[in-house]
Amino acid sequence: MSDELILIVEDESDIAEILEYNLGKEGFEVEVEARGDLALERIRRRPPDLVLLDLMLPGVDGLELTRILKRDEATANLPIIMLTAKGEEIDRIVGLELGADDYLAKPFSPREVVLRVKAVLRRLEGSDGADEGYTVGGLRLDVPGHRLLVENQDVQLTATEFRLMKVLLGRRGRVQTRTRLLSDVWGYADDVDSRTVDTHIRRLRRKLGSEAGRIETVIGVGYRIRA
Ligand code: CA
Repeated sequence: MSDELILIVEDESDIAEILEYNLGKEGFEVEVEARGDLALERIRRRPPDLVLLDLMLPGVDGLELTRILKRDEATANLPIIMLTAKGEEIDRIVGLELGADDYLAKPFSPREVVLRVKAVLRRLEGSDGADEGYTVGGLRLDVPGHRLLVENQDVQLTATEFRLMKVLLGRRGRVQTRTRLLSDVWGYADDVDSRTVDTHIRRLRRKLGSEAGRIETVIGVGYRIRA
């Protein structure tokens, strides 16, 4: 059983109830808040381990809440999974750019929610060992050795490809927008040319061979490593 606290911020009570029930069943401690402004107070009073955040909310909306949380050092690392509806694709991208960890598109299955929550929490627990490297399926990124192994075979990467791989693996399971990758891998402040990202991903996939499918394209958003 887990004693991690999940805060559900959702004003549609039927959705909140389903989430509360299913996460509770998995052993999580669950709190529900329907208003964005009250959620902020609650988070500051008792920081949860993860927030499931609806976008359209009374008080303060989900994107604004994300912006506030990420700006504050005390809450900047709090994992956020956005709950988005059809027609909120733009908001979804903005949310990911603001630093949300992942999103779930409504309607979602309770099982999917539980899997995503666990994936994000597990990744955080594992992040202490990130200096050593990452292993996902047949991929192993040896960070101190500055090398990538695919099925135990050394694969030559350029410095940029290595950085890109490191960022993607470090945030595995989470979608990374092209803008975010341009900023975190290339250090670009603006969306100079997002095709740069696509070109490098294409080259990386070619080098990954049998593990190429690990890098998933999330249409209209960016890329993600399948954990
Ligand atoms: Ca709503």
